[in-house]
This record gives sequence, structure tokens and C-alpha cells, in this order.
Amino acid sequence: MLNIILFGPPGAGKGTQSEKIIDKYKLTHIATGDLFRKHLGEGTDLGKLAQKYMDEGNLVPDEVVIGMVDEKIKETKANSSGYIFDGFPRTVPQAKALDTLLKEKGEKIAGMIALDVPEEELKSRIKERGKTSGRADDQNEAKIENRIKVYQEETLPVANYYDGESKYVKIHGVGSIDEIFSKISNEIDKLK
Ligand code: AMP
Repeated sequence: MLNIILFGPPGAGKGTQSEKIIDKYKLTHIATGDLFRKHLGEGTDLGKLAQKYMDEGNLVPDEVVIGMVDEKIKETKANSSGYIFDGFPRTVPQAKALDTLLKEKGEKIAGMIALDVPEEELKSRIKERGKTSGRADDQNEAKIENRIKVYQEETLPVANYYDGESKYVKIHGVGSIDEIFSKISNEIDKLK
């Protein structure tokens, strides 16, 4: 199995690039933000719990996220040749829990690919996306600022965690979608 983390701040292009990655490498996509939005849309208890955190741009508690990912891996493992994790892990405890979950299944993370995008560009991309995404957290300046702050304070340490395991690579995330995808593909090919 090939298990990869696509990492980066909100608005870095993780969703867009994940679609291209799953298409080319036939990996299973686990995007925790998408999973929470699905629960929200279906009105499940998990969705209701997550909503108050998501609406403010704060992180959903670790144990909730980890439980959801564990369940998703169990559901898909038999038919999967590997995973692309998108928007997860977002804290060091989540990263450690993911390592444990994979280890129990005789698996590991091959590498983390981080998309590096300047803050001003992130803000303008998120605002643009907000015009069509319908996401409450994409449409308000204070919430966008908070998501970037939460990323810097709580999520960036996850990059150091994988860097410490020599599994971290950073890619410049500004340019055409295809240019960026080609750089990502080069890195994935080195991990195979
Ligand atoms: P995203 O679609 O990845 O931008 O996620 C949207 C929102 O879902 C985030 O702002 C968080 O409230 C929540 N969320 C998604 N993934 C995680 C995660 N790994 N840990 C905690 N909260 C998350």
C-alpha cells in the first residue's frame, strides 16, 4: 500500500490536487473536512457535534476525528491499494494516532507532501471559493483569518513531526493546477 498525506493550509489546493492524485494513482481519498460536511448534510449526531467547531473555523476534537478516520479505514481497507489523507492529521496527537492505526494493520505513511502558498494568496482563493462553495467558513473574513491562525498554531507542528521522520517534502503551491500536479507526481513516484 502507498499511504500519503497531502498537507497545507486552508486554500492551498489540497482538494483539487487530491482529485488528480486519486485518479492517477488509484488511491482511496480520506478528506476529513469532506467527511464532516457529509455528516452535517445528513444531520447525523457526529455532524451536529462537528458543526459548531467548523462554523468558527476551529478544529473538531482529536478523538472525534480519529474515530471517524478509523471507521473509514476499516470500511475501505479490503478494496484499497493505499490512501491519500487530505486535511488530516491536523494535530500532532492525530499524527501519532494515525501512525498507530496504520501500524496495527501492518502499514505506514510513506510521505507527506506539503503545498506551500503565501497567506495573501490563501485568503483570496478562499474568498473566491466562498462564492460557490456554500461553506459558511469560506465566507467571513474573521473565520478565514481564524482558520489560518489555527493552522499556524496547531497544524504546522505536524510538518515537523514528519520532517523528524524524514518523510516531509515541500512543494511551491502557486502556478497552474497541472504544473503543481506534475511536481506532486514526481514526489509520489519517488515514494512508490
Ligand atoms: P477542510 O475542508 O479540510 O478545510 O475542513 C473544514 C473544517 O472541518 C475545519 O475547519 C475543521 O473545523 C474541521 N476539520 C476537518 N479536518 C479536521 C481535522 N483533521 N481535525 C480537526 N478538525 C477538522
